[in-house]
Amino acid sequence: MASGHIRSVLVTGSNRGIGLQLVKCFLEKPNPPQVVFATCRDPEGARAQELRHLASKHPNLAILQLETTDEASVKAAAKKVEARLGGAGLNVVINNAGVMPPCTLESATAKDMLDVYTINLVGPMLVTKELLPLLKKAAHGSNQKGMSCGKAAIINMSTVLGSIEKTPEHYFAFPVVSYRCSKAALNMLTKCQSMGYKDDGILCTAVHPGWVKTELGSEQADLTVEESVSGIMKVLCNLSEKQHGVLVTWEGNVLPW
Ligand code: NDP
Repeated sequence: MASGHIRSVLVTGSNRGIGLQLVKCFLEKPNPPQVVFATCRDPEGARAQELRHLASKHPNLAILQLETTDEASVKAAAKKVEARLGGAGLNVVINNAGVMPPCTLESATAKDMLDVYTINLVGPMLVTKELLPLLKKAAHGSNQKGMSCGKAAIINMSTVLGSIEKTPEHYFAFPVVSYRCSKAALNMLTKCQSMGYKDDGILCTAVHPGWVKTELGSEQADLTVEESVSGIMKVLCNLSEKQHGVLVTWEGNVLPW
């Protein structure tokens, strides 16, 4: 089932890696969104150069400052999104920003655990909370039946490493304890959002992008960022209420939590 046209999308952590590639793919669609909000911590900095270059070619690309763990930054970005949408709702929020520092059971400190939890879990929670009125506006104003990204959706970029059921298969290869715990919590947030926003018709899905060659994923990873994100784009187009409150892979398969 096709999702219908996505008129607006916001991506966090979009100056590099999977976030940047998602922004590129939305802009390159034959029928691109009217506005793509690419958010990052430092829009003027060296690491946002590629994003600024894209904005010079695409008037439908809006770059916004957004540090996902800073409530003032999130609120300021939400206000700018509302103003740019000019009374329309926001179709899709992709909570992509995340970190994966090395962390073993032996090395973990309280600060390590809390810092990663704040970025990988509290950030997506704050961003979604502030943008919720705009997502509701898109959902309530849509005449599409069922759930889809063309109506309103929250996409949380998670990982198989946050799946408790799948952990025995690859724990020793990836002993990133703080990351695993934070993403297990993100999976729970996704489930809670799916319950809380069901009656509003807002689709809530967690996505595992595969193991991807980015700064976070490293050069050893299985997939190029292009391969992963082209899969994710197809998945987003086909999401429906069947994937509401579940974790799906970049190929569209459901993973156990
Ligand atoms: P990268 O390290 O390439 O990029 C991470 C992005 O997140 C950067 O744009 C970074 O911004 C941003 N970011 C980090 N912290 C914050 C913050 N507090 N506020 C705003 N932005 C922030 O990672 P990937 O592209 O690989 O990962 C993207 C998502 O996909 C993550 O959530 C990750 O967990 C998930 N994922 C990735 C996998 C992989 O193999 N690559 C596998 C499974 C899941 P800045 O440049 O300012 O640091």
